[in-house]
Amino acid sequence: MISEALTTVRQGIADTARQFDRTPESIQLLAVSKTCPVADIVTAFKSGQYRFGESYLQEAIAKIEALRDYSLEWYFIGPLQSNKTRLIAENFNWVLSLDKLKHAQRLNVQRPDHLPSLNVCIQVNISEEPQKSGVRLSDLSSLAQAIAELPHLRLRGLMTLPIRRVDFNQQRLPFRRLRVAFEQLQASGLALDTLSMGMTNDMVAAIAEGSTLVRIGTGIFGERINKINGL
Ligand SMILES: *Cc1c(COP(=O)(O)O)cnc(C)c1O
Repeated sequence: MISEALTTVRQGIADTARQFDRTPESIQLLAVSKTCPVADIVTAFKSGQYRFGESYLQEAIAKIEALRDYSLEWYFIGPLQSNKTRLIAENFNWVLSLDKLKHAQRLNVQRPDHLPSLNVCIQVNISEEPQKSGVRLSDLSSLAQAIAELPHLRLRGLMTLPIRRVDFNQQRLPFRRLRVAFEQLQASGLALDTLSMGMTNDMVAAIAEGSTLVRIGTGIFGERINKINGL
């Protein structure tokens, strides 16, 4: 099941890329494995998938430990808290959900010297929902400039998780706003290469608007049993 689903998702990415005049190679696939057992990650790895995204830290650390012998790339995509930053700095390759300078500063000092810089994306609250994680667009530029100064972090780009919409054109609007913000940061001199937009239900709209890293859970591993906050 998982290997067939991966093939279908990869084919969908390639078809959508061509439809919007993009190359399939310009879009990377992050398999969101939160709540999935280790065995499912191994199955996905054997089908050629090596980037995995996790939201819940304790669960993620247990999987990372269990899978030390595989060369996987781990992305933290859940909400950050100060008491989580050390384990994240020590165990992950990427953080996609950074939205506060104080967390960035902690990750920067806690990143072990023997590891390469931690790749980070800033999460933007593009739909400006009151309870949602992410920086507002009006505060993005100053946060990005400050994070870019931190030597043990490497600012790679932006991530967002907009309000769920069914209509394709409604889905595209927030992604377009994020792409414009991304291009403005690039124009201001930041060397960014990662625009992470699109999940199982809005992947096509995200690719249409320039996503370089789609985050797919349900589409690969099936419905999650323990959905928390709708995720
Ligand atoms: C769970 C989650 C996903 C994957 O969502 P699906 O709808 O299952 O593809 C993507 N991004 C984030 C930040 C998530 O928490």
